[in-house]
Amino acid sequence: MFTRRDFLKSTAIGGASSLISINPLLAATRPKKDKLGIALVGLGYYSTDLLAPALQLTKNCELMGIVTGTPSKAETWQKKFNLKDKNIYNYQNFDQIANNPDIDVVYVVLPPSMHREFVVRAAKAGKQVFCEKPMAPSVADCEAMIKACADNKVKLAIGYRCQHDPNTQAYMKFAKEKTFGKVRMVTCGAGYFDARTTHWKQNKALGGGVMGDMGVYAIQGARLAIGEEPTSVSAQFHTTRPDIYKEVEETATFQLEFPSGALAACHTSFGINMNYLQANCEKGWFKMEPFSSYTGNKGSSPQGPIDFPLQSQQAKQLDDDTDALIKGIPLIAPGEEGLRDIRIVEAVYKSVANGGKKITI
Ligand code: NAD
Repeated sequence: MFTRRDFLKSTAIGGASSLISINPLLAATRPKKDKLGIALVGLGYYSTDLLAPALQLTKNCELMGIVTGTPSKAETWQKKFNLKDKNIYNYQNFDQIANNPDIDVVYVVLPPSMHREFVVRAAKAGKQVFCEKPMAPSVADCEAMIKACADNKVKLAIGYRCQHDPNTQAYMKFAKEKTFGKVRMVTCGAGYFDARTTHWKQNKALGGGVMGDMGVYAIQGARLAIGEEPTSVSAQFHTTRPDIYKEVEETATFQLEFPSGALAACHTSFGINMNYLQANCEKGWFKMEPFSSYTGNKGSSPQGPIDFPLQSQQAKQLDDDTDALIKGIPLIAPGEEGLRDIRIVEAVYKSVANGGKKITI
């Protein structure tokens, strides 16, 4: 029997086929298997509150399996989502997912220090891989993840949900088309007050620290609103709660320089609520507030309001990414996009370690 997995491996996802050669196969297999099967790895807040509900709304994919270290969660999820026994895995037997044709995509939603291990294991199992942001704690980890996916001929998408939001896409278009001339300065803030004290976000070994967590939103804001890659960064860390933020930074401010001469002043924090982006251009401006929320991102420019409706950002992301897998078209945010941000995060740490010195990226 020609399974959906065989189909995916032999066509678009193998990377060799064009859309034209895929479509007949798609038509032949689709009536039997309508949607790609997703397995979520890690059933914490983001999987429970955002991804599982979004997977009830998606057109191209559905929740088919789970990977968890907590048997009680497995029981609850299995009942709630009517999951088959054979599609429930723990961290030890996860590799057996290779033999499960119900699962096309493994979505890693664990603390960042665990992303590399599970992305590599998923790739070796021959599954397509989605991975939450931040991609990983280091550039070396990101490169290993990209290589594992390439070696196993599977795709890797990073969970940059905002890039799927038409409100983000609207300001990216201003940057690309230079609607208001060149962007000269972006000011961007991404932060919230985190009252937790012993979560992985406060733990260095698990990949905590605000730079990877909220900092990547500020980095994305600057990169996407300017439409270039930064060439240098200077950074400073601050804390008002040194008893809690012993191992990792609570607040970071960093300044980026871009090849065109554009500048960005970015702020990110686990102690301060902020969610805004302002771009000043040669012949105008655009701004967003909020710019990186799950819902309700909106803004304005001299052309008028930016306020596109969106039912579920996560459902849009999941549908866009699985659509790209099915059609063999580029992913909106592949592993290389996650790596770009982690390079900047590493440069921020290097700058702070060197007293705020400007670091070339
Ligand atoms: P969480 O702490 O709520 O959940 C983490 C999960 O990992 C839990 O199920 C936990 O049991 C499991 N886990 C396994 N080993 C662990 C260990 N050693 N220590 C701690 N937990 C362990 O975290 P979360 O908020 O769901 O975040 C998970 C991932 O999703 C992170 O990469 C995070 O940055 C990302 N995230 C993304 C968004 C977004 O908007 N894209 C939002 C929230 C979280």
